[in-house]
Amino acid sequence: MRKNNDSTWRRPVLACSAVVGPPGCLGRGWRRRVSTVCGLRCVLFWALLALASQGCAARRYYADARLLPDPRTLRDPSLRDALLAELPQALSQAGIKRVAVVTPDGVHRVLSAPGETPELQDVPTPSLAALRAALHDEARGAEIDLLLPRLQPGDEGQRVAVSAQVEPNGSIVITQGPVIPASLSAPPTADEIRSRHGIAPSDLGEVRWTPAYLAVLDRALSLLSSEEKAFVSRILFVREHRSREPDASQFSTLAFYTRGAGAARIELYDNLIVADRYMFVGPPQSPLPASVRLVLHEIGHALADASYAAAQRDLMAAVSEYQTDENKLSKWIETREGDAPTVAEVDEFLDKIHRVEVSVHRIKHVGAEGPVIRAFRRARGQSRGPTRYGEDDIEESFAECFALFRADPDALRRIDPDAFAWFSAQGHLSSLAH
Ligand SMILES: [Zn+2]
Repeated sequence: MRKNNDSTWRRPVLACSAVVGPPGCLGRGWRRRVSTVCGLRCVLFWALLALASQGCAARRYYADARLLPDPRTLRDPSLRDALLAELPQALSQAGIKRVAVVTPDGVHRVLSAPGETPELQDVPTPSLAALRAALHDEARGAEIDLLLPRLQPGDEGQRVAVSAQVEPNGSIVITQGPVIPASLSAPPTADEIRSRHGIAPSDLGEVRWTPAYLAVLDRALSLLSSEEKAFVSRILFVREHRSREPDASQFSTLAFYTRGAGAARIELYDNLIVADRYMFVGPPQSPLPASVRLVLHEIGHALADASYAAAQRDLMAAVSEYQTDENKLSKWIETREGDAPTVAEVDEFLDKIHRVEVSVHRIKHVGAEGPVIRAFRRARGQSRGPTRYGEDDIEESFAECFALFRADPDALRRIDPDAFAWFSAQGHLSSLAH
């Protein structure tokens, strides 16, 4: 989302209020100003979607924390028995046609035809838990990336990444990755991030950067191309407790892209990494913290905004130069002290006025939407998503697509092949050049 107070506009990010609840979806400030209204709009939207989905096929999409199972149940020692007891009937009720579970040890064909008795005994518990999540009403078409406790004797604290892909036609593929090793490498320092990426975490926020946040920022920046890094290198990355936006939800706003007069910044909030405990992004064989996708989402906003940000910087520089000369000239006109301005100086002043005019024209040319979003809209045609959050706002959709393209390209290729092809062909960067 963005906020537009003439010189300031802000965008918040998608928002998985870590475990439950709809995202705090706020649209562009001048279109939708109040989050409570947006919240209502979201609820209405979901209600409409539920009605619509009865009559037409579900689309593929990438799921957020709404489809996360209740974390309290995931550590319950009786979880496996409970799942084995309830899954056969739940599969049948959901009308699931096929289920395959892929683990490092091999493929389990759980269900090959509707109505068969599912073969669940050899399936590891995390995959059973992911299968249960995949049977949720809203999971049709979804990819759900869960980080789950392994729940085996002697494996205290170990986790595995499990991805559930639910096809719109009722087939499910569960892919369980290997046990995630305890991180061997120490988290990076701020200086290391600066030297690796040319982008530094800023101390201007009210919160100190902790190793966990430095690690997430480092992982997100590592996924960018050098060209993308160049576009975001002017942006400040700051840690704040929470959004100061009066209309942002305290619980669901996890990060924010904002541009004031000339200074763009991405704010990362206290609740950004809460969902990392139970969700990941990327392939289950090499999972990334889920919050990496959220940081990339904000970077996507920054990329889409880069043309406008550059035009605004030029305008401010032009206005500032004009004002310096204008002050000098009006002082001389008032006092007539010192030398009169020369013809060359007056010409220079006129040039500066012209530069202000040109800069204003350029801002108008960039337009409210900007060249990146315009090109993205043209490239993807009628498709929507790739998440529920990006369904009905082209800018949020762009940010979500960009984040998936960098953090989980296979997911974007499956969900929105047109968007994947456009990003692969550098559509976002070539449109910035115009
Ligand atoms: Zn956003």
